[in-house]
Amino acid sequence: MNQTALQLAYLAAAGAFILALKWLSAVATARRGVVVGAVGMALAIGGTLLSPEIVSYRWIAAAFVLGTVIGVPMAMMPMTAVPQRTALSHAFGALAAALVGTAEYYLRTVSLSRFTMGALAIEVLLGFLTFTASLMAFGKLQELVPTRPMTYPFQNVVNLAILAAAVILAVYLVLHPGQTELFPVIALLALVFGVLLILPIGGADMPTVISLLNSYAGLAAAAMGFVLDNKLLIIAGSLDGSSGLILSIIMCRAMNRSFTNVLFGAFGQVHAQATAVQQSTVRSATPEEAAAILDAATSVMVVPGYGMAVAQAQHKVRELTDLLGKRGVNVRFAIHPVAGRMPGHMNVLLAEADVPYDKLLEMDDANSELPQTDVALVIGANDVTNPAARHDKSSPIYGMPILDVDRARTVMVIKRSMNPGFAGIDNELYSMDKTLMLFGDAKAFVTSLVKELSSPA
Ligand code: NAP
Repeated sequence: MNQTALQLAYLAAAGAFILALKWLSAVATARRGVVVGAVGMALAIGGTLLSPEIVSYRWIAAAFVLGTVIGVPMAMMPMTAVPQRTALSHAFGALAAALVGTAEYYLRTVSLSRFTMGALAIEVLLGFLTFTASLMAFGKLQELVPTRPMTYPFQNVVNLAILAAAVILAVYLVLHPGQTELFPVIALLALVFGVLLILPIGGADMPTVISLLNSYAGLAAAAMGFVLDNKLLIIAGSLDGSSGLILSIIMCRAMNRSFTNVLFGAFGQVHAQATAVQQSTVRSATPEEAAAILDAATSVMVVPGYGMAVAQAQHKVRELTDLLGKRGVNVRFAIHPVAGRMPGHMNVLLAEADVPYDKLLEMDDANSELPQTDVALVIGANDVTNPAARHDKSSPIYGMPILDVDRARTVMVIKRSMNPGFAGIDNELYSMDKTLMLFGDAKAFVTSLVKELSSPA
């Protein structure tokens, strides 16, 4: 393939990546987004493989086999493990960028311009630190390392000192690229910083951190594009870097948290503060009673959350809503942006269960419908429905936008116990007069509801 054809393939790939991002941002076009993204990647890899600069395919073939051996099992990880799967792929992407940077440094030391050396330093710093930080994030989510925030005195000072040392040495190396002995020191400091960065962050904050690491890996790839003079890498890396950053900002906003709070706030410790609402103050109902209430309703808003994901109840939920729909009940789903444990978690699960897109309402639309809704059926969601976020200034989730399920005429909540959710706090919704608790595993309870509604009256 000649240079012109290669550049055209890269241009088409870049266009495909931009379209993929655009289409992935809406449920109705997301599948198309995945396909066009994959086509873009095929064009990028195919073009690179046919590039005239390649002299031998031996090492490429070895890397291909290794990548396939690691990648295929990773692709089979279950939906609930997507955050850790994403952490692993960032770790590998960042390591690749760092290793390419290392190779380029030692191959071209004498001929490196200051600009290229600057880009290379950024690539290697971000690449190595993202590698270990992502592995740590993976470890915390997979519970291979303790998930609680690990803190010690002067932690932030130590971390910042290590980062500062790495940056100062990198700047020195940019000015004096011949000082090759500095390179391994910088790499080591970056690797250590990656581990230390994640230690004080609780496992529950990992999805937000992963999204931030996504952004670092993207920036490392963009820097690599400058080192290799590869425009596609610059474009794809920048898209990755900026979309990761935007996503982290959206997630922080949806939780009413700041970046600093996520990175340095040791949020996972709040759990201990929960004081269970007295079981006696809540009213519960049986599947039979709940089914009768649903059957008598004209409108039902299903509010799915993390518990639905854990129970893998989405298919049964879809069956239930189909049944209600056939009985003339207007059923919709209210989607909170941070329900579950990763962005778009509920959208993915409901799409997997073939719930029609037009039944899904975003938070603001759902909130304007909820006061006119007969029944809000909360399935394994907790924090995203907690009215304390609106009025209790002392609550850790105060200010977080929530789904106003307490404004529906009746609220029914499926969960196993009175235990708190992610934020570790009680939910006053459960003791309201209009609320009925439906205690049980989400899948088991919804299955009972389906049975009740399918059996002839
Ligand atoms: P949540 O507040 O974590 O509550 C989930 C509830 O599900 C729990 O109270 C639990 O109660 C119940 N549950 C667990 N397993 C269940 C099962 N098998 N059957 C039935 N219920 C089950 O979840 P959420 O309302 O979806 O809110 C998400 C939280 O995660 C928010 O605080 C958000 O800020 C945070 N977060 C989200 C993201 C993201 O990107 N989506 C990222 C980071 C953090 P029981 O134990 O009593 O059953």
